[in-house]
Amino acid sequence: MEHDVKPATWVAHAGGAKDQSSGGVVPAIQPATTFYRDSDYGLHNPDNIYLRPHSENLRQAEAVIQKLEGAAETLLFPSGMAAIAAAFRWLPNGARVVLQDGIYWGTTKWIQAFCQRRGITLLTVDASDTEALAAICQDGVDLVFVETPSNPWLKIADIAKAAEAAHTNGGILVVDATAATPILSKPLALGADIVMHSATKALNGHSDVLGGVLSCREQGEIWEAIRTDRADSGAMLGPFEAWLLMRGMRTLALRVERMSENAQALATYFADHPAVEDVLYPGLPTHPAHALAKSQMTGGFGGLMSVLVKGDMQNALAVAGRLNLFVRATSLGGVESLVEHRYSVESHTGLPQNLLRLSVGIEDVQDLIDDFAQALGQ
Ligand SMILES: *Cc1c(COP(=O)(O)O)cnc(C)c1O
Repeated sequence: MEHDVKPATWVAHAGGAKDQSSGGVVPAIQPATTFYRDSDYGLHNPDNIYLRPHSENLRQAEAVIQKLEGAAETLLFPSGMAAIAAAFRWLPNGARVVLQDGIYWGTTKWIQAFCQRRGITLLTVDASDTEALAAICQDGVDLVFVETPSNPWLKIADIAKAAEAAHTNGGILVVDATAATPILSKPLALGADIVMHSATKALNGHSDVLGGVLSCREQGEIWEAIRTDRADSGAMLGPFEAWLLMRGMRTLALRVERMSENAQALATYFADHPAVEDVLYPGLPTHPAHALAKSQMTGGFGGLMSVLVKGDMQNALAVAGRLNLFVRATSLGGVESLVEHRYSVESHTGLPQNLLRLSVGIEDVQDLIDDFAQALGQ
């Protein structure tokens, strides 16, 4: 398929992947773990020896994401965390890492333990403060990691400036753009070296596949190390998951558009609601980094938002308990809307007790607003 089509066209056609042998308009699942040789002992298909490094379904799904990101190469992993671990494991002992604070707790937790074990200096900073980020990199840095928009604070890091801070001080920039999706944001074009997504979230979009992905702006020594480590340590996504992910991604552009529209409307509704103390959403003009978000995201601001309801924790839990449509569950990016009382699972990181994190899905927006209207009691 032609490479110059728009993202919505590219994903709808799954990058042109079809089943060559049957003529099927969707690719087949190839679960074989090993691939045969001909009588002269030559490989029947020179691309395939053994499943761990060689999966047709993986390559097809990677090709779809690679084009969306404008990447030199894309690698899928069995989860978002496996992708993040892969983005760090190449670091030598004694390296220096700058990490954005207040991001997805699972990421922070793993990076803290990894850096401690490996004697890596770990510095944390509010990456939405561009000057603070530049200052903390000044003594040299090997890897800068930011998450934008951040989860659950919805802070926005300036990707171009973060890349500059990393590069002028000897490091690379890795961006977790899970909440933005490759439809709304192109971190590699802004100077990031590696962009990461939890494919579990909006990329797959149906809350039924665990996966993660890294894409690079340029191949080089670090990327080679990541690719080799993935194959040698076996951190590969399985063919069934890769196939399901491909199916999910066909509607990615449509889903992201609808999620963003719904989230924008809900955020606007909350902004004027007497029972709401604050709403954190980069699409609102009142968000402190709205202009920046607008400049580095196109087509919307995604489906992730946080709402601080007036009152205490019991009240926030009661609101969540009264919701009929928003499913009380963690995660984000699925077609169905979710609500999570984040403090209940992460009470030690200074989150407000009245914060409800929402993942806005693709439902009819009036149903979503009505659900909150009755839950908030106004
Ligand atoms: C979910 C998530 C991850 C981790 O991904 P898994 O697929 O659960 O391993 C990392 N970053 C962000 C922003 C996430 O939302």
